[in-house]
Amino acid sequence: MKLPIIMLSALIVLSACSSSSTGRKQVMLFSDTELDKMGAASFDDMKKKTPISSDKATNDFVQCVANAITKNVPQSVHKGNWEVVVFDSSQVNAFALPGGKIGVYTGILNVTENQDQLGAIIGHEVGHVIEHHSNERLSASKLQNMGMAAATAAVGMADIENKGLWMAGLGVGLQYGVIMPYGRSHESEADIVGQDLMAKSGFEPSASIKLWQNMAKLSANSGKGAPAEFMSTHPSNETRIKQLSEHLPVSMKYYQTGNNPKCKKPS
Ligand SMILES: [Zn+2]
Repeated sequence: MKLPIIMLSALIVLSACSSSSTGRKQVMLFSDTELDKMGAASFDDMKKKTPISSDKATNDFVQCVANAITKNVPQSVHKGNWEVVVFDSSQVNAFALPGGKIGVYTGILNVTENQDQLGAIIGHEVGHVIEHHSNERLSASKLQNMGMAAATAAVGMADIENKGLWMAGLGVGLQYGVIMPYGRSHESEADIVGQDLMAKSGFEPSASIKLWQNMAKLSANSGKGAPAEFMSTHPSNETRIKQLSEHLPVSMKYYQTGNNPKCKKPS
């Protein structure tokens, strides 16, 4: 009984030394290669199960925005081209996966009024990838599988900043996969990283605030407690809009209007 705890602790000590760009300590037990493989496999699966849009204007628009964003993603996150697919589905959703994969549902294009707002969405999703959030979630899941008792002991030993994540990872009935809702700290980090990224890519960073206001409106109009899909996996609230507004002076420093990619949203 003692051995797994010792092994687990050693594992944590070895892997807990990294931190995210906002300074959050991270526990990551998987290699980038493993994550890339999982991302690619999940993406292939999605492509088999969900219809893909063949509308040229829509694909050109999404590709144009995605290209502008991914150009500014460090090579250490993904080398080479990103694969961008527009799924023909009314779902208000989008995602990015390790291994350079981006999926955008046509449903979300009804909420994004222009290239800047789509830039905010793709920036946010790629932000999750840049900050290795899938790795953290899968690591939490792995620790959960290694046993409640051992993991509880490990929590006591881990950096206190990680405790929230670890405790969440221990929660009953939590299901971790590559595509799943993120926790509040991940959402907040993706918002900040995403806003900087969209600004660097030539998109007006204040569009991120307008986007979430649109999302909130959509959620309010969609009937009794039935939020749009993107809202349900990306809990939006006043805190998020407030944080994006507070961060705006920082991201504006990265924003150069001359950089604007001029991606045209089809009418
Ligand atoms: Zn998110």
